[in-house]
Amino acid sequence: MQTTRLSLEDVLPLTCSRAGTCCHGNIVLLNPWELFCLAREKKITTREFRDLYTEFGGIKLRFDGKTGWKGKQACSQYIDGFGCSVHLGRPLACRLFPIGRQIYNGEVQYMHEGIKFPCLDGCPEVSELPSLSVGEYLQGQETVDYENAQDAYLELMQDLADMAFELFLDTGLAASGDTKTMVLWETMGNELPEELAKRIGVEWMDCLVIPELPTDFSGPINFVQQHTELLQRKAQEKFSALSTNKDFHEASVLIMGVALFLAQGIGANRMGLAEHWVETVKDILSKR
Ligand code: SF4
Ligand code: SF4
Repeated sequence: MQTTRLSLEDVLPLTCSRAGTCCHGNIVLLNPWELFCLAREKKITTREFRDLYTEFGGIKLRFDGKTGWKGKQACSQYIDGFGCSVHLGRPLACRLFPIGRQIYNGEVQYMHEGIKFPCLDGCPEVSELPSLSVGEYLQGQETVDYENAQDAYLELMQDLADMAFELFLDTGLAASGDTKTMVLWETMGNELPEELAKRIGVEWMDCLVIPELPTDFSGPINFVQQHTELLQRKAQEKFSALSTNKDFHEASVLIMGVALFLAQGIGANRMGLAEHWVETVKDILSKR
């Protein structure tokens, strides 16, 4: 799909008319910090929020509300005539909309879909409201914490993939001529999220999506740091006594599955990443 790149200085009709059209028929993916913020705002546990209001094992908000704009169903958090019931804890995608964000070669890029400004489709009245620069809009939407969390989870995703690499490359598994591990990494890039969640299993899924962390963290970066340490401790506990190639194979597949599941929650291209990681390891092996 064609996109329009934006700079922080670009001025656009970014004052929301609050018609709620983008809260209908949309896709809102969640990382664990966002799930935590939503549950906190709703005053329920993360487990309850995941089970009641998300799909794909907790990485996608459910849109099963009342039918509204263009006959599309509203977000599970949308209240007709009121708006977002979790406004203060809304995820990054909702704060940014209609702007998109990606990291490309280490650089943050903002854009919107298509050539025409997206809000004009459902809310043409925005052209009558005050225009804002992209930078002003992001500031007003208080995106910083959520952008930081997203970037920290991107790093955690790569750390988990690195762990899967090590379990394959540094244990003798790759040297044994194993061909099944990388095949499964690639397979997991294409699996339905439900299938991947099943493969990962309840224990690791809970640790990834609804981690039990101390509540005295100082912000999103600290939250993700504690989450990273929790996952590392779990891996240490589960993998330190492994000894056979079968064990290493299973552990490598499991951790790669966790990395790929997290990738989907942060909106990364899961299939592309799986292919990229397989190519990276093949490249390492070819130089040995
Ligand atoms: S489409 Fe744009 S103007 Fe309309 S409710 Fe969503 S963000 Fe606001
Ligand atoms: S979380 Fe709130 S802002 Fe986001 S789609 Fe749902 S109702 Fe709309």
